[in-house]
Amino acid sequence: MPGVQCTALFAGRRTAYVQSAEEDTIGGDLKRAASIIRERRETVAFTGAGISVESGIPPFRGPDGLWTKHDPSFIELGHFLDDPAGSWIFIRELFFDAIERAEPNAGHIAVAELERAGFVRSVITQNIDGLHQMAGSEKVLEFHGTTRTLHCLDCHAAYARENVDLSKMPPTCPSCGGVLKPDFVFFSEQIPEDVSRDSFAEAGAAGVVLVVGSTGEVMPAAYVPVVAKEAGAMVVEINTSVSAYTRDVTDIFLQGKAGDVLPELVREVLGTVCENCSGVSRGAA
Ligand code: NAD
Ligand code: ZN
Repeated sequence: MPGVQCTALFAGRRTAYVQSAEEDTIGGDLKRAASIIRERRETVAFTGAGISVESGIPPFRGPDGLWTKHDPSFIELGHFLDDPAGSWIFIRELFFDAIERAEPNAGHIAVAELERAGFVRSVITQNIDGLHQMAGSEKVLEFHGTTRTLHCLDCHAAYARENVDLSKMPPTCPSCGGVLKPDFVFFSEQIPEDVSRDSFAEAGAAGVVLVVGSTGEVMPAAYVPVVAKEAGAMVVEINTSVSAYTRDVTDIFLQGKAGDVLPELVREVLGTVCENCSGVSRGAA
């Protein structure tokens, strides 16, 4: 195959490939990021609202973000407990309706492909939309919970979304009549201990953190890439704009839409499989 050599055969050599004409057209940073992911393999994808924007789900911040039009207090726990019906009207429209219309985009699909190919070990997402799982990612840690399940504030019974009637506000528990709360983390709520522990353990084990579409402003989730970096991981960031990570935490910044950049990155990482030893070669045919 012209212009392609197997990286496995050349393991340990940083110049394990030869330049092809095709490669000249791909950004140098993209190639560098792909080569790091190939060499280190243990990649943890850390995703924020930005990865789901191209699926039609607005982010919180930024020019088209929800907080430009709405007061975030409807997902503040105290506010919700005081006025569940009022909060639920926004929750249903801005989260449930938007998420239930959405499909995974090329960015989610690319992350799932990297997991299937053995490069991504887990996805830590701040999103509550379930789109990574719909795209085929299997090891997904939902740092801020999910809209797919709800529970009763009184008897703590758990319900799958499809078994809850959202036509009446607030939705109530069929067994005791208590108010149902979605299982995503509200402002002033704690992150569930197990997901927090597992996420920071993944961060500590990562060789690369692929940060996609996150401002890095939501604590404590924002620490995940920082903990990974302190433990020795390289940080590759994809975002349309600079974030709180870009200057001091990110090693390689790939500016652009997740749905454009991630598939390109995957093509560059996966390349083709070597006929001689099954190692992955760069420079897809
Ligand atoms: P954010 O809303 O604070 O910021 C979104 C980030 O994505 C910004 O940095 C922006 O520049 C970037 N971005 C926008 N479009 C992009 C694109 N097409 N490709 C790549 N990047 C793009 O998001 P956040 O930092 O993830 O934190 C906000 C919180 O909002 C999270 O905790 C999350 O739980 C919640 N949230 C989730 C969803 C969802 O589930 N889809 C939607 C909105 C908010
Ligand atoms: Zn109940």
